[in-house]
Amino acid sequence: MKTLWGLPEKVIFCKKCVVSNQRPGTVPEFKNKSSKENSTKKSTIGFEDGICAACRYHEYKYDVVDWDSREKELLKLLDKHRSKDGSYDVVVPGSGGKDSAYVSHILKNKYGMNPLTVTWAPHSYTEIGWKNFISWIESGHDNFLITPDRSVHKKLTSISFKNLLHPFQPFIIGQKYIGPRIAKDYGINLVFYGENQAEGGSNLDWDQKTMPRNFFTGNSEELRIGGLNIKELSDHGISESDLNLYKPLKNISSDLEVHFMSYYRKWIPQENYYYAVENCGFKDNSIRSEGTYSTYASLDDKIDGFHYYTTYIKYGIGRATYDAASEIRNKHITREEGVSLVKKFDGEFPKRYYEHFLNYINVDENQFKEIIDKSRSDHIWDKVDGEWQLKHKVS
Ligand SMILES: [Zn+2]
Repeated sequence: MKTLWGLPEKVIFCKKCVVSNQRPGTVPEFKNKSSKENSTKKSTIGFEDGICAACRYHEYKYDVVDWDSREKELLKLLDKHRSKDGSYDVVVPGSGGKDSAYVSHILKNKYGMNPLTVTWAPHSYTEIGWKNFISWIESGHDNFLITPDRSVHKKLTSISFKNLLHPFQPFIIGQKYIGPRIAKDYGINLVFYGENQAEGGSNLDWDQKTMPRNFFTGNSEELRIGGLNIKELSDHGISESDLNLYKPLKNISSDLEVHFMSYYRKWIPQENYYYAVENCGFKDNSIRSEGTYSTYASLDDKIDGFHYYTTYIKYGIGRATYDAASEIRNKHITREEGVSLVKKFDGEFPKRYYEHFLNYINVDENQFKEIIDKSRSDHIWDKVDGEWQLKHKVS
């Protein structure tokens, strides 16, 4: 039996949402706060009594947290960093999607901060993504758009697709560093991201307020992209100087703090969407995203669909599962509705930008299929009459 990616062999679905225990990302060490050093250890989502960590976090978020006192904490933090001369006092990394638009806009208009927004460019902007980006800037923000060398970014994406079936890994690595990197370069000591990992169940520290420093600091020797270190990447024609934007940061001031807005204000993605529509000119897509029923999340990159398609192949968890699970936890739909949405849309092939994606990663159709099929674990997939089928489906 071939079990890849360190997954648990027995597949269990959450009793409350639609996610299974194959979802990656939980860091069990976080139960013990003193062991935050291990926070980058890869694992899968924690389950207790048949309920996933994200659902348990949401019970805490709705029933236990005192959001008024959290906002007071926020005001204290902002007052500590607020500039007196109009200079930038907070960096907000984002694409201009609903979440970053919400965070930057409330920081500026509700809390009187002077944010600098920073965007790590998508691989290939969609028309709607570019429009929303422009509307975000027009809603009253200065912005740095940081675009990595496209030839390097394409190569790294191709390597990560081939080695890890994770075409978004180089993007995610660059995105993680871009906020603190710009803050450091411009002497700004506060960075605000939107959602912390507890929201998706990837972190058992439910009160995660700040990003652990070892997420964005470190030595270049620790850098791995597509499973390769700097020396191995040079065999693919990528030199160390090509990798500046992907390297962990060094010599960061101890005054620099990276915080999550979802700790301070009750984080409800659909509410962020309504806020962004009303205040930042945000528009959803006229067509639903492939692989799901939703029209307003992750719209800006032509290859987004392949991120979710590859998670479907590796974990049996596609885009509709992520969307439905989040909407169940935030009480917008019932579990029953979620199950039928997953059955209808999960794993739908993202054909709209398929040719674009193949050209982007320089892989032909046969190679693509071969890489996909060798990335399927035996405990998740069965071949029946020549067709791949999930062995375990949510019900
Ligand atoms: Zn759950």
